[in-house]
Amino acid sequence: MEITLVLGDITEQEVDAVVNAANSSLMGGGGVDGAIHRRGGPEILDECRRLRASRYGKGLPTGQAVATTAGRLPARWVIHTVGPVHSRSQDRSELLASCYRESLRVADSLGARSVAFPAISTGIYGWPMDDAARIALETVRQAETSVPDVRFVLFDDRAYAAFASLL
Ligand code: ADP
Repeated sequence: MEITLVLGDITEQEVDAVVNAANSSLMGGGGVDGAIHRRGGPEILDECRRLRASRYGKGLPTGQAVATTAGRLPARWVIHTVGPVHSRSQDRSELLASCYRESLRVADSLGARSVAFPAISTGIYGWPMDDAARIALETVRQAETSVPDVRFVLFDDRAYAAFASLL
């Protein structure tokens, strides 16, 4: 597997699948989630609604992942995953690692050859960037997956530097 770091906007990535840092409602939100739905158009939300009505009545649990169409994005699929909210009193690292593992498992089931990840949980969910970068890189490196091309798409210099210093 080749791991690449990109400074940029995940909605512009020409990959098979982009991963969305969603919330469990799957009904959209801010950050990456808002950008994906705005740029990808209403088809993505339509499919999210159907998923809520069928498989995920109570919402998508933290650490799990599910795919939809990517609508008008250059990618073919959006893989929605729900990162944990960072906590000082409880170690939720395993849930964050699970987001990366489960997203790659879904990517494998789709036959995706290239996957772009944002830095899950590091925005609204408050995870410190350096720690999130370590968990992301370790988990993806160790994952049992046949996806050959994984990109981390970092939105600003600080996020890019955190990942670059570990890679
Ligand atoms: P979470 O709720 O999991 O914290 P956010 O979307 O708030 O998710 O933020 C996750 C990370 O994605 C943050 O580091 C944020 O700066 C970054 N980000 C926001 N918009 C984009 C985008 N369009 N492309 C890539 N990364 C983005």
